Amino acid sequence: MAFDRIARRGLMLVLSSPSGAGKTTISRLLLERDPALSMSVSTTTRPMRPGEEDGRDYHFVDPTEFNLMINRQEFLEHAKVFGNYYGTPRSAVEGALSRGSDVIFDIDWQGAQQLSQMAGGDLVRVFILPPSTEELDRRLHTRAQDSDDVVAARMAKAADEMSHWAEYDFIVINEDVEKSVAQVQAILTAERSRRERQVGLSEFVKRLQEGY
Ligand code: 5GP
Repeated sequence: MAFDRIARRGLMLVLSSPSGAGKTTISRLLLERDPALSMSVSTTTRPMRPGEEDGRDYHFVDPTEFNLMINRQEFLEHAKVFGNYYGTPRSAVEGALSRGSDVIFDIDWQGAQQLSQMAGGDLVRVFILPPSTEELDRRLHTRAQDSDDVVAARMAKAADEMSHWAEYDFIVINEDVEKSVAQVQAILTAERSRRERQVGLSEFVKRLQEGY
């Protein structure tokens, strides 16, 4: 048995941040560069934005369907964010983890808290902060896909969202996207090396000791 085939528990990487801190870009680059990662595609009741695709960015549903999914216990967690509902579909995540894939979750602090309660040690929580208020402001405005009202609401929410930073395991200040991606990759490498995640270790060491 080669050391790179030691059975390992899948890890759930939660990335949270206030809107405009650069989380979406960071998660896209992580996914492009690491084939062992997959993204949890959430279900939402919010309207689709230009450039978004159903099934890739979100599963877009109406509130009635969302409620049915809650009742059928199809979500690992769900929360109301900016007046819309968002939820993490259970079966896709369980499928990815059982295939040995690590899963990224782009969810807010409410989702992170709910997942912490149920997934405990499988969770690695990373909070991304913008480097300054000016930069956050600039990024929220250049996004320009939402109406002024929505941008204003997000600005107001950013302070609230950031107040949850201390509930996370790691904090990344996103001044430079490449540096931030490297930082999250380093976190992943370290977390994957944790003894308790490498469930095949005792078998591997036994073989080393017995010489076969
Ligand atoms: P947006 O509408 O800009 O795509 O996302 C708004 C917020 O909802 C972001 O903070 C994002 O992390 C959060 N969010 C997206 N999907 C989920 C989800 O499935 N669960 C929770 N709790 N939050 C989510």
